[in-house]
Amino acid sequence: MRKKRILLSSPTMHGEEMKYIQEAFDTNWIAPLGKNVDSFEQEICDYIGCGHAAALSSCTAALHLALKLCGLRRGEPVLCSDLTFSGSVNPVSYEGGRQVFVDSEYETWNMDPRALDLAFEKYPQARIVIAVNLYGTPAKLDEIRAICDRRHAILIEDAAESLSAVCRGRQTGTFGTYNALSFNGNKIITTSGGGMLLSDDEAAVKKARFWATQSKDPAPWYQHSEIGYNYRMSNIVAGIGRGQLVHLDEHRALKKKIYERYRSAFADLPLQMNPHTADSEPNYWLSCILLDRGCPVRPLDIMARLNEENIDSRPIWKPMHMQPVFADCDYITLPGVNVGEDVFARGLCLPSDIKMTPEEQDEVIEIIKAMF
Ligand SMILES: *Cc1c(COP(=O)(O)O)cnc(C)c1O
Repeated sequence: MRKKRILLSSPTMHGEEMKYIQEAFDTNWIAPLGKNVDSFEQEICDYIGCGHAAALSSCTAALHLALKLCGLRRGEPVLCSDLTFSGSVNPVSYEGGRQVFVDSEYETWNMDPRALDLAFEKYPQARIVIAVNLYGTPAKLDEIRAICDRRHAILIEDAAESLSAVCRGRQTGTFGTYNALSFNGNKIITTSGGGMLLSDDEAAVKKARFWATQSKDPAPWYQHSEIGYNYRMSNIVAGIGRGQLVHLDEHRALKKKIYERYRSAFADLPLQMNPHTADSEPNYWLSCILLDRGCPVRPLDIMARLNEENIDSRPIWKPMHMQPVFADCDYITLPGVNVGEDVFARGLCLPSDIKMTPEEQDEVIEIIKAMF
């Protein structure tokens, strides 16, 4: 067994991060807010090509504030991606809303626009959609956006995993009226923890910043007319983000190399890599495999075997409609199919850490190949 564990996806620091942290120390601008926060917001806007951004403590917080901006009401249905991480959809419950889970399609593993259409037929009053770009692969965002527009619904794009991915020439995180990014430790760039809310609506982003700093009314004393949250990103954390952002393109290029290396190595095995459409360019955050139907090797067998060799791997996100906490929620699929459950049953996330050497990746590849 190897001594050093090969990880799924861990932080990769470069040193520039320290420069911005040092600056914050030197000016004693540790908190609250400060230059790094303002600059990080602006630099993300410039990179993505969006109007305004609010740096927050997490992507989950960004999604929560997005739902508040939509005016989500108690008991109101929100049409959500089913195959995702719970952070995508938990904020619906914070506001007393009701998740309605929408199945995936096979071309991107993301929300199936046809299933979204069905969901709107069943819930014609639905006003809000949360669509995720899983593992850095853009969903069919133009189609999803068009359906939302036709239904006069607001699209919230959960781009937590897809920063720097492009769909039809456009960055993810720009398709929704509100968009959320994550800088959690395992994401393509990290601030240790953090997130951002993006929108072209300046007033909305200002409102989100207001809520995120305890809803302090403009008064000489502490006065509050609304419930507030402590959701803002600190100036230290934003400094890490500024140092990371200059390496984002390099991270994506390394992630893509890892993906391509797996793909060519596994060309003869009964499996495929996580797919994307021809008109999109993922950020290749995680390389995943989908074993062919009837394949005698099971994902959990591969995971156990890799773990014996001190190598990390992870099941596909367990679909939300299969989670005990969401047992009461509705789930919309095309008749007779259940793509999310199928991908969960046959898929596995492989080590995609950009510090993994080609030799280490070869070890992973050889162990998997030997199982077939
Ligand atoms: C990581 C993640 C989140 C949550 O991000 P945090 O910054 O940890 O709150 C939300 N949605 C998806 C799809 C994620 O992968």
